[in-house]
Amino acid sequence: MLANPDQATVLDFQRHLHRWFAANHRPLPWRHSYEPYQVWIAEIMGQQTQMERVAEYFRRWLDRFPDAAAVAVAPEQALLKAWEGLGYYSRARNIQRAARLLVERHHGQIPADRDQLLALPGIGPYTAAAILSIAFNQPWPLVDANVERLFARLADIDRPLKETATRKRIHALAETLLHRDLPRDHNQALMELGALVCTPRRPDCPACPVQAHCTALRRDTVEFRPLPTARDKRIDIVMACVILCRGDRFFIQQRLADDIWGGLWEFPGGRLEENETPLAAARREVVEETGWQVERLEPLDTVIHHYTRYRVTLHAFIAALPADAGAARLTAAQQSAWVTAAQLADYPFPAGHRRLAQHLRRQLSGKTGTALTAKKTSRS
Ligand code: SF4
Repeated sequence: MLANPDQATVLDFQRHLHRWFAANHRPLPWRHSYEPYQVWIAEIMGQQTQMERVAEYFRRWLDRFPDAAAVAVAPEQALLKAWEGLGYYSRARNIQRAARLLVERHHGQIPADRDQLLALPGIGPYTAAAILSIAFNQPWPLVDANVERLFARLADIDRPLKETATRKRIHALAETLLHRDLPRDHNQALMELGALVCTPRRPDCPACPVQAHCTALRRDTVEFRPLPTARDKRIDIVMACVILCRGDRFFIQQRLADDIWGGLWEFPGGRLEENETPLAAARREVVEETGWQVERLEPLDTVIHHYTRYRVTLHAFIAALPADAGAARLTAAQQSAWVTAAQLADYPFPAGHRRLAQHLRRQLSGKTGTALTAKKTSRS
């Protein structure tokens, strides 16, 4: 069993695992060549994102930015647009910072050296090990969330995964089981097995190639492994924003560079203050962020979006801005623009605002924003 494997067990485990991977791995696009730049991009995109979704984004990214040199010279807006929907936008910015260093120090190539990789923005020990093992076939063990769960069952670990001792134990097991001649296949096989067979709920044990080595299966504890941990409490955030229109144009602003969504575009708005209604917050935010007083706000839509531990409810209002309102005095943005509904698609937005922009394009389809506010006003 895998709790404390001897050499024969390790070899048998590897044989079954690799045979299964050869027959069952998904044909993900970076698996055609394992070109280091492609492996790097796929790894960064894959953080917090399902592989099928990564594959979609990866293809589009590669069409636009085929190598580090292309990323290094790309406008930041183009990168953010290509990343739009993946979230955690600092990852895209770090890719560009790293790409510039790659061009400067390594002729645009990904180095096959751990220290040199760790010197690049956005690359920590896990990503470095992923690039070294998957792109360069170097023997570094890899433990992602799928592998953690798999090992917790294989070794029937009855301690929380978050404990330092548990992590050490799992890393030691990963090191022991690693196939030193085939680290690329080995690491991917473990992750693939965790993703496709040893899934969080209802693992498919009868189809598992390493079931003979699974301690939890033998002890009938699979459903209790990994040990459930107290879930982090979800945090609810309520926000309001205003879509300001003038004829067929809509006002958008670009967030400040050091902001959490720095560089992305949005409709003016923000969080509700204590005991504030969404309508009052929307009106206040417009004044604070643009200097414009807007009297007549009509509810347009409410979108709910989930980010890891947060649930954001965004109340959107629409309002026509009088022609004599003057220029915006921006306090929370680096620049602004008046764009048509069709042009909204050219700008990168955070998820909630992107859904509003899509909603707006659908709802308008040929009408002007002013017509929309007039229609809503007449209904209320
Ligand atoms: Fe996971 Fe079941 Fe395989 Fe054990 S036998 S590793 S629980 S899929």
